[in-house]
Amino acid sequence: MDNAAGIRLLSLDGPTLSFAAACLAALLGLFLISAWLQQRNIRALAWWGAAYMIGAASIVFWSAPSPLISLSPEFSEALMFIACGMIWNGVRLFHGRRLWPTPMFAGAIVWLIGCQMPGVPEGSAGRIAFGAILVSIYTFFIASELWRERRKSLFSRSAAIVVPSVHAAIFLLPLAMRALLPDVFTTEWQTVLALETVIYAVGTAFIVLLMVKDRDVHVYRQAATTDHLTGLFNRRAFLESANQMFARQGARGEPVTLLMFDLDKFKSINDRFGHGVGDSALKVFAHVASSSVRSTDVFGRLGGEEFAAIIPEETDGAIQVAERLRLAFQEAGIVIDGHEIGATVSIGVATSYAAVPDLDALLLRADEALYAAKNGGRNRFHIAPDEPGCEQARQAAAARNALANSGIIKRRLAARRARKLGPAVAG
Ligand code: GH3
Ligand code: MG
Ligand code: MG
Repeated sequence: MDNAAGIRLLSLDGPTLSFAAACLAALLGLFLISAWLQQRNIRALAWWGAAYMIGAASIVFWSAPSPLISLSPEFSEALMFIACGMIWNGVRLFHGRRLWPTPMFAGAIVWLIGCQMPGVPEGSAGRIAFGAILVSIYTFFIASELWRERRKSLFSRSAAIVVPSVHAAIFLLPLAMRALLPDVFTTEWQTVLALETVIYAVGTAFIVLLMVKDRDVHVYRQAATTDHLTGLFNRRAFLESANQMFARQGARGEPVTLLMFDLDKFKSINDRFGHGVGDSALKVFAHVASSSVRSTDVFGRLGGEEFAAIIPEETDGAIQVAERLRLAFQEAGIVIDGHEIGATVSIGVATSYAAVPDLDALLLRADEALYAAKNGGRNRFHIAPDEPGCEQARQAAAARNALANSGIIKRRLAARRARKLGPAVAG
């Protein structure tokens, strides 16, 4: 159709488009609900499915020719805002946040009240702009919810954020058009927006399913790498992460130190206080250890009452961690679950300066050191003898450390920064 400005707008048969949109929304709704029936724990799927069904009903009521099923237009449109609110609440639920019913219905209520105002009669440009604002607000809510949780995602959530944002921006387009080019803005934009909504609905359903799949992958990966009792890395994940750390440190020519921990007289704790208290002691140790190591260290449960940490430092730095942890556990282990237990831990320490450290050899050396700590009376650490031929590498590492500590590197960095900032600083 040609408008006053001579711009040809997309001309589509409204009833056909509405029929197609309603069928599509209903099918996608059924699809999401059947996905929920297979994965009942993901309640968000039910919310999204129901939202699509309500969206489909809204289109039917809005466009149906028969007076039997027709609602007044503003009521059918209000249903669409409830659907938007439900999709948003579904995203909140998916991320473990609570439902927020008031804003879910607020859009519909604001719409019903707003439609009673003079100046926004049915089909008017003002009415379209009003609806566009409400849809955009909900879609920005959805996008911001996804943005908040983006770090938890394995699947790049950028698509999930970009799609609703573009949708909201498109819905705001009529407002800009109305303000800037009043001649071009006509109610035919309703057709364009309807078409865009159909595309958005399909895209959103795909994104939703990708997010659910993403969550499944995350849950299975978590289960495969986590020790269920302590929440730490299990043996497999620990060994994997240790090898990654070795590769990083090896590339920089830096040493690594392995700490191996074994709780003292643990069998006797189980025998005297029961297995449940033994489990609590393991959890207490895991908690103390998690607070004692840094996020860059790798820590895990090797099995039973044995744990290990890889510290990207040479022996001196690592024994500070070992001693801090030993003392913290000695304190935390005095009373566990109301029983005077006096749990303690022994630690074996082994450092490698090799360019490609051999994990098995390091584990063996740390194990021997641990055995020596046990023989030495327990509740202590013992350092393994140096690995053969490490003297040169150790001297190189010590020289690098001395250089870093002497401030030469810091001064060079400061000088480089000053050169870069030269004119600005001078100015
Ligand atoms: P040491 O000081 O020489 O290390 O003596 P220990 O008693 O700690 O060593 P030992 O290897 O004899 O006993 C380890 C015990 O740890 C035996 C086993 O029943 C118990 N154990 C292993 N896994 C678990 C667990 O998940 N929970 C509990 N409660 N006990 C466990
Ligand atoms: Mg043991
Ligand atoms: Mg033990």
